[in-house]
Amino acid sequence: MTERPLGFETLAIHAGAEPDPATGARQVPIYQTTAYVFRDADHAAKLFNLQEVGYIYSRLTNPTVSALANRVAALEGGAGAIACSSGHAAQIMALFPLMQPGRNIVASTKLYGGTIQQFSNTIRKFGWSAKFVDFDDPKAIEAAIDADTRALFCETICNPGGAISDLPAIARVANQAHIPLIVDNTTASPYLCRPIEHGATLVVHSATKYLTGNGTVTGGIVVDSGKFDWSKDDKFPSLSQPEPAYHGLVFHPTLGNMAFTFHSIAIGLRDLGMTMNPQGAHYTLMGIETLALRMQRHVENAKIVAEWLEQDPRIGTVTWPGLKSSPYYHLAQKITPKGPGALFTFSVKGGYEACVRLIDNVKLFSHVANLGDTRSLIIHSASTTHRQLTPEAQVKAGAAPDVVRVSIGIEDVRDIIADLDQALAKATA
Ligand SMILES: *Cc1c(COP(=O)(O)O)cnc(C)c1O
Repeated sequence: MTERPLGFETLAIHAGAEPDPATGARQVPIYQTTAYVFRDADHAAKLFNLQEVGYIYSRLTNPTVSALANRVAALEGGAGAIACSSGHAAQIMALFPLMQPGRNIVASTKLYGGTIQQFSNTIRKFGWSAKFVDFDDPKAIEAAIDADTRALFCETICNPGGAISDLPAIARVANQAHIPLIVDNTTASPYLCRPIEHGATLVVHSATKYLTGNGTVTGGIVVDSGKFDWSKDDKFPSLSQPEPAYHGLVFHPTLGNMAFTFHSIAIGLRDLGMTMNPQGAHYTLMGIETLALRMQRHVENAKIVAEWLEQDPRIGTVTWPGLKSSPYYHLAQKITPKGPGALFTFSVKGGYEACVRLIDNVKLFSHVANLGDTRSLIIHSASTTHRQLTPEAQVKAGAAPDVVRVSIGIEDVRDIIADLDQALAKATA
């Protein structure tokens, strides 16, 4: 008899954790410790040689943080995962084993503003670079890939405009070029989409958002599918050749489908130090227990609010991809069949000025640079998160000056609508 795999809701509560072996504690304890006592000198040597898996020092691994990483790996259907200090740290950690000076990535133009910034400027300090192309056009992606390209990068549900990435089509381009596809799944969460099932190699998260769900933590996760053949050619020497940073260990194929994960711990976390703290991991574990319920409500509320906005004469375009008017409606049915998230933009007739007045008059909505909170959030991207971009890049990124972005929370939807209604009245008076 083949056992049915555990369902998502069950994994969200149980995966990665067992009752504490020392005390029987049912909930994952917060192991607030820096170091771990070795049994003896031989045990210590084996741990440092990766011959035995265990805890050495919390910059590398910690039981609370590992429980979180393993839970998200289970939810995403990956082979392994690492947790790190922020979503942005996760992006660097995902690229780190793949890249060298002179290498590049091909990234979507529709990304979180901070990611466009990180990829346009900051990664250049490492000698890496990014080329931005329209990921709605697989031919454009193909054309941008060159001999130095080491990854494709996109978001499942693109921030801020809610465009949906055609992950299977993008994964085909990545496969042909034999480079990994990295998908930022922050805005969908594994409840709405599991990018690995659509061909992604690595999935990154800002755990700051839906995974934690209540705006208490800054954290990030990298999940490895375990499916990429790092040794097929010489493109990924950190994984396929003797690694000088770890006394010549060849991570792949020695460590098989855990090569990327072990490299990220043994070298990435060890030397870059973008480690998640156990307290943060605890909050995120608590958040994940209710992820499925929250995402259902987020999507339900988003649908009602988006439909209400769309029929309102004060409003121009509403970009929620669950609306039939969205160019991504059909793709959304395929990629996010349980609902295309709760993050979208709408334009206000009256432009920039009306947007600013709307933001200044909301009461229930919080004006913050965040998303994926239980609370409804609003921001004017052009004057905040996407302010560093040129006006042309703002429009391309879905953050035009007459557009506000909302992250619809799980409050009573009548209160969400009432708040938008009164603020729109003042904004367009
Ligand atoms: C917030 C966010 C990030 C960055 O995550 P931090 O935890 O703030 O570092 C990356 N991608 C997306 C889609 C995000 O929403």
